[in-house]
Amino acid sequence: MPELPRCRRAGWPELDAWADALAERIEVADAVPQTLVALTRGGWVPARLLADRLGIRRLLALRVRHWGVTATPDGSAELTEGLREPVRGESVLVVDDITDTGESLRLAVEHVRAAGPSRLHSAALLHIARSAFVPDFFAEEIPRDGWVWVVFPWNFWEDLRALGARALEESHGDLGAAHALLAERCGLRVTLEELRRAVAPAPALGR
Ligand code: AMP
Repeated sequence: MPELPRCRRAGWPELDAWADALAERIEVADAVPQTLVALTRGGWVPARLLADRLGIRRLLALRVRHWGVTATPDGSAELTEGLREPVRGESVLVVDDITDTGESLRLAVEHVRAAGPSRLHSAALLHIARSAFVPDFFAEEIPRDGWVWVVFPWNFWEDLRALGARALEESHGDLGAAHALLAERCGLRVTLEELRRAVAPAPALGR
């Protein structure tokens, strides 16, 4: 089973502040695009927050798969669903939540570039300094030696299911010990009830 990573839980006020900072940087650089392309799934909410702040109505998605399970990379990044609408001749901004290895955003930018936009930029709320791809815009940089798994609100239950299961296994099925382990090892503070709900076996489906 993979290791329990250090985590940082991001809340909505922080997300709003990152989205504000990102939108401001894009405006100052005179780079407000006609179309936003969000990477699914991590870039959806950030792209919607940017669309609201920048007054952009056209929001497209493309699907990239990289980190299959929380904090566990799944081989190399793979583009599994491309653009379904044309962006030829348009100014485009490709958006994700965080660049870690940067492979997902690099792949997405290459894909969109091939579709012939008139101008192309990339943005992420957070950028980890070790990433091989540096987005044109980001709100906050995480130092290379400060790597953490960021638990975004849109990924909270998925992350807690994965990390909770690992903690529970390490604690030989003791929920209280798993709860303490998540706090100590991962820095992830959740209620005991949240952990119980996350690791509860899925109900059997009726016929
Ligand atoms: P990457 O291709 O390594 O830049 O990361 C691809 C995607 O995986 C990101 O857009 C996130 O949705 C997720 N991800 C990767 N690293 C992290 C991290 N440290 N914290 C939270 N999510 C991450």
